[in-house]
Amino acid sequence: MIKVMKFGGTSVGSVDAMERTASIIGRDSSRKVIVVSAMSGVTNSLIASIRDRAPVDEVVAGLRSKYSSSAKVIMAPALFAEYAEALDSSLDGLQGALSARWKVPSDPVLDDTISSWGERLSSLTLAYILRSKGIDGVPLTAEKAGIVAQGSPGNGSADLDATHRNLRKNLLPLLEEGATPVLTGYYGCDDRGRPMTFGRGGSDYSGSVVAYGIDADCCEIWTDVNGFMTADPRAVPTAKCIGEMDYNEAAELAYFGAKVLHPRTVEPVRRKGIPLMVKNTFNPDARGTLIRAQKSDNGDILTSVAVKCDLSIIKVYSSEIVYQPGLISRLVGAISDAAVNSYAVSTSLSTLAMVIPTPAVDEVLKRIDSLGEQQVEKLTVKGNVSLICCVGDNMLNVPGVSAKVFSAVADIGANIEMISEGASDVALNFVVPSDKALDVVRSIHNTFIGG
Ligand code: ADP
Ligand code: ASP
Ligand code: MG
Repeated sequence: MIKVMKFGGTSVGSVDAMERTASIIGRDSSRKVIVVSAMSGVTNSLIASIRDRAPVDEVVAGLRSKYSSSAKVIMAPALFAEYAEALDSSLDGLQGALSARWKVPSDPVLDDTISSWGERLSSLTLAYILRSKGIDGVPLTAEKAGIVAQGSPGNGSADLDATHRNLRKNLLPLLEEGATPVLTGYYGCDDRGRPMTFGRGGSDYSGSVVAYGIDADCCEIWTDVNGFMTADPRAVPTAKCIGEMDYNEAAELAYFGAKVLHPRTVEPVRRKGIPLMVKNTFNPDARGTLIRAQKSDNGDILTSVAVKCDLSIIKVYSSEIVYQPGLISRLVGAISDAAVNSYAVSTSLSTLAMVIPTPAVDEVLKRIDSLGEQQVEKLTVKGNVSLICCVGDNMLNVPGVSAKVFSAVADIGANIEMISEGASDVALNFVVPSDKALDVVRSIHNTFIGG
């Protein structure tokens, strides 16, 4: 049995959490590769220091004390001295990247390099903590392991085949020697060997990519909740843990806002039929959620409800837009050229409505404008909307389910701005004003799952 165990930010977020994580790793007898996130808050602070052009020495000293103070409590002095040296040498790399970054007004590649540093420090620290427990932890960066990324900075995806070749060559021999590689999550390397991140929360995706790359039997995502739940427990305290899900359900919910999994986590494991487990580092005996091709029980009308916030609806008006050759495809193309996801699209005789992330609105409007389409009569933007995604086995094939969902929405007086039903086999999606979104989620949850 070979498995990947991915630990998120809270699972390595404090001395206590790292101890727990190390003991979860220690009591698992399978051969395994560990993938880690930055300590919680570290990626945010690195990104903020780029934005604020924070003094290099301050950033580096802050991280040195954060990581080494945790490590010092756990490690014996001799091991700690070795760790402190490795930490210094890693921080020299960060210092160089920050200094280079301050010399230029913008540099997306350096931004990705800097924001990947929390994962490098976690990989080093956790590997040494494992050593202090008698486990042969080997810190490994994505560069050394050979995780190949493609796409654009801040939004990369893995080249799965190239990564598969590299990981088999670089990781399997370590596993055969009985070592436990501790790999950096969140980023891979572009064709010039430069770091490229997979987007915020991307370490889950790294876990799945590594599982693909070593042909693992299982990929475990260790986090701070008991599993994939019927709603975000922060918004819906009565949310329940889901025992089993299929890949489609998990992928739709992750794409539409269930933060427990990065939106692209499911695809690499799905391709090889590798089961994905979501487990709680702070309650390891809880069953967790098993996600695989087919679940053993079908029948829940609503499995889970997610919400994607900070969206806007762009509406393009043009008489008989649907009969104008190529116009809709050019407009939709303007969005995809800007590497922006469109979360819902809807057409009528003379309008095209698209739901996109609010931060991308200006860029998309600029691109539509540069098309110079004479036939476009008017463009409107409605901000502050959120998309609700309801996923369930019988969401779309039991008569009356949509009516019940929409009556739960009406109960709290929210207006539905747009509906997207039927595009997926398992999901019913619609857009509501953001100030009502969480009440809508609670009302739907209460109707179908209860308190
Ligand atoms: P990690 O640092 O381990 O990657 P994240 O904070 O990224 O953890 O993801 C876990 C969080 O996802 C949970 O604390 C929870 O608030 C949130 N979440 C959102 N939707 C769900 C859901 N459907 N099930 C479980 N957790 C969810
Ligand atoms: N540390 C990265 C982030 O905060 C990646 C992750 O945690 O998955 O986005
Ligand atoms: Mg996460």
